[in-house]
Amino acid sequence: MANFETVEVSTDLLILGGGFSACGVATEAAYWAKKNGLKVTLVDKAALDRSGAVAMGLSAINQYVGVKDGENTCEDYVRYVRQDLMGISREDLVYNIARHVDSTVHLFEKWGLKIWTDEEGKYVHEGRWQLMINGESYKIIIAEAAKNAIADAGGEIYERVFIVEPLLDGNKCVGAVGFSTREEKFYVFKAKATAIAAGGAVHVFRPRSVGEGFGRSWYPPFNTGSSAYFTIKAGAEMTCQEVRFIPVRFKDAYGPVGAWFLLFKSRAISAEGGEYMAVRKDELQNWAPYGLAKPIPANLRNYLGMLDVDAGLGPLYMETAEAINKIADAYKDDPKGYKKKMKELEAEAWEDFLDMTISQAHLWAALNVKPEEKHSEIAACEPYFIGSHSGASGAWVSGPEDMDTPYKWGYANMCTTEALFAAGDASGASSHKFSSGSHAEGRIVGKAAIKYIVEKGAEPNVDAAKLEEIKNTILAPLDRYQEFCKLTTSPEVNPNYLLWRQFMDRLQKIMDEYAGGVTAAFKTSKANLDRAMELFDFLKEDSEKLAAEDIYSLERCWENVQRMWQGEAHVRTMLFREETRWPGYYFRADTPKMDEENWHCFANCRWDPASGEWEMSKKDIWNIPGV
Ligand SMILES: Cc1cc2nc3c(=O)[nH]c(=O)nc-3n(C[C@H](O)[C@H](O)[C@H](O)COP(=O)(O)OP(=O)(O)OC[C@H]3O[C@@H](n4cnc5c(N)ncnc54)[C@H](O)[C@@H]3O)c2cc1C
Repeated sequence: MANFETVEVSTDLLILGGGFSACGVATEAAYWAKKNGLKVTLVDKAALDRSGAVAMGLSAINQYVGVKDGENTCEDYVRYVRQDLMGISREDLVYNIARHVDSTVHLFEKWGLKIWTDEEGKYVHEGRWQLMINGESYKIIIAEAAKNAIADAGGEIYERVFIVEPLLDGNKCVGAVGFSTREEKFYVFKAKATAIAAGGAVHVFRPRSVGEGFGRSWYPPFNTGSSAYFTIKAGAEMTCQEVRFIPVRFKDAYGPVGAWFLLFKSRAISAEGGEYMAVRKDELQNWAPYGLAKPIPANLRNYLGMLDVDAGLGPLYMETAEAINKIADAYKDDPKGYKKKMKELEAEAWEDFLDMTISQAHLWAALNVKPEEKHSEIAACEPYFIGSHSGASGAWVSGPEDMDTPYKWGYANMCTTEALFAAGDASGASSHKFSSGSHAEGRIVGKAAIKYIVEKGAEPNVDAAKLEEIKNTILAPLDRYQEFCKLTTSPEVNPNYLLWRQFMDRLQKIMDEYAGGVTAAFKTSKANLDRAMELFDFLKEDSEKLAAEDIYSLERCWENVQRMWQGEAHVRTMLFREETRWPGYYFRADTPKMDEENWHCFANCRWDPASGEWEMSKKDIWNIPGV
């Protein structure tokens, strides 16, 4: 049997993940923990400086309300999220984040992040809510503040430890287990409260980039559904599991389009030159009231482009040359000024990629693209789970204590499982928090979790026999490989096991073909989803036959099991919601219309750890009065 040393760590607050929301939890919790003599421990599967979705950096902070300058109100932000998510959002959570996010951004600036300012010293906006930044070191700056806060409070950070399972005591989370991605060590973290902040999920669906392009995706490949798995396995109620996100990006290297649409005011067109947002405007009537209000929801913008592709009018293009030349035209009577402006615009176009998606700059260079001379191809990417962005999947969490919200069972952002808190991509129905809002939500969680520990914290009760059973299950793929790998000439082909890559390919094929992936042109139906569930039965059965030749493969095995659970929650919830509400994210061909009467509600699900059964439920939408 794999001989991993068991390392036991006891703490008061356990933070799982090291991304934006986890850094927010750490920064705030450390402050309150120090005051109360409590210990905070953070565990990241990677290295804090460059982990999570912001690893490579970003060129804009996407959520800044600007209350101090009277630019917007928190209510404006609530309306914006409601509109973009076609009426389905937890307004209490969105409001709570909105009222904290500006102070988070001011902290970022204090910690050394360069936010662009104009001649009057005002922040430069990319769009209404977005601020331009010099963001290549964004993650390092935010991680440094979290590390300092934890060190100051005498806490601990574990890097390169992959968390697999929650530890449960009835309906209470008492910690987590995982293993080192470098050494033969099995970690047991016992905690009075746990904050899950391990990001969303990529590669649940087959990506467009396969073969030589595999590994490239819009979302970083290291967020693999750990948050969803952890909360589902902890018996927590989940919400919006059907609300995946499909970004439209520069094709094949997933370069961002935000700066092009918002800053350069570029148009997106079909191969025939029609601007689908204008040509197909009438289609928006079918999605009233959301289709007729501004800004047009992201999924509907996607959908109009998808209709062009369905009609054979693809590829779609971003009119980069037209946009750049239009801006530079203002200088056309001054040849020197014109040349300078063109150079500046060209530099901004490339820098936008170099800040956050370097591979797109590589691809442009490889294909001799000159954005000022020729348009570039864009496409709808494969689906992702990222509740902090324009998707909404995540755990169903308790609302803010001081708001009169119907969704409240105690401490802010606590899941329906006691002592388990969720932030960022891990908490659902509160989209559009992005990097800054995720950090702000992390701070909310940090404060609430410490309050919970001070008021109710009890020594974690962990069943030793159960723990041993979990350890054996987690390490089993290593033993299975050793037992059977010599029975065939090639260890990759073996009737006794399957390897992570084979398992992942199968998962992605099911999701892609039956659950509305790229191959299915983002369409699905009850019959397709039922078929996916049939195939899931076999996949789940085979997940118990995964084999790993080393620690690296063991991590990949569990990442894919976690993806599978995220995939199943998604399929079940799409089956449950008998309408099409976000046609540019997925289209249920058998229920092709939005049904406000029956489905203006949250679709929630819960897996019961005792029975192993899933339950689906509807939850009412609550609008903040007067907003
Ligand atoms: C391509 C892209 C572009 C974006 N652009 C912008 C933008 O321009 N502006 C903006 O403000 N926001 C942007 N965002 C959104 C922003 O990145 C996210 O909202 C934010 O990172 C979410 O924070 P999080 O903590 O939930 O997840 P992340 O920041 O992704 O952190 C997840 C953390 O969990 C860790 N982890 C994962 N699994 C495990 C495990 N099993 N065990 C232990 N640790 C684990 C990871 O290593 C990582 O530290 C963008 C996101 C993407 C993907």
